[in-house]
Amino acid sequence: MMKWRIGEVTVTKIVELEVTSGSRFLMPQATREAILPIGWLQPDFADASGRLRMSIHALVVATPNCRMIVDTCLGNDKENRRIPSWNKLQTRFLADLTAAGYAPETIDTVVCTHLHVDHVGWNTVLVEGLWGPTFPNARYLMGRVEFTHWTSAHVREDVTAILADSVTPIWEAGLVDLVETDHRICDEVSLVPTLGHTPGHVSVRIASQGEEALITGDFLHHPCQMARPGWSSTADSDPIAAQHTRERMLTQLSDNPILVIGTHFAGRTAGHVVRDGEAFRLAA
Ligand SMILES: [Zn+2]
Repeated sequence: MMKWRIGEVTVTKIVELEVTSGSRFLMPQATREAILPIGWLQPDFADASGRLRMSIHALVVATPNCRMIVDTCLGNDKENRRIPSWNKLQTRFLADLTAAGYAPETIDTVVCTHLHVDHVGWNTVLVEGLWGPTFPNARYLMGRVEFTHWTSAHVREDVTAILADSVTPIWEAGLVDLVETDHRICDEVSLVPTLGHTPGHVSVRIASQGEEALITGDFLHHPCQMARPGWSSTADSDPIAAQHTRERMLTQLSDNPILVIGTHFAGRTAGHVVRDGEAFRLAA
């Protein structure tokens, strides 16, 4: 199990799924031929044939006074997902979370960086045919802008299913707090707006005892976007804004000693952004 320490705060990675595949459905420009020349991606983030390695995991952030889980992956038993292998999952995620020392009932805060399918799944569990909160003692923080976006106009069938089984039950249980994109959660942890991937997308900043880290969310889907900040993901709702956010954040991160913890980064998952020619790479 991977763990990082930022001053008095620990961050623990709980993996739900890791995949190695041609990820061109996600990033059309990330062909094997385009990935192979970016040598530093191997072995953590790409294999020897240029296929991308990606991970879906949650990050548990434990401060002296607070226990939060950032992004809740895909979840078990969900249906009507656009990607066939994401339906009716039966993973060990909750058992692994408990074994790591973070039983669901001990979590006091759930943070969704945005409301995409792979960030809200474990918000709920299926109990006797009904979706109920996985973290009954937590406040679920969702962005006001993000929540408003997904719950207004949108009626694409797969989005409806995600809201119905992973968002609405939490809202109806009265556990949602709608927050602004720069919300301060506790002394050490606050949200940072990183818009573009979705209209209300946020990253999570951790600062303690002079040390600092940033949980990306999906403003970077894969470390290859450090080398090629112009590569947008097909999941970016506003590709131009997403690119501006990547460039602005990468510049900021490379000028400061900030540990970057990737929400979908496989392998070592974290590191420091450094300049590499006209772009960037993830160093140790
Ligand atoms: Zn994602």
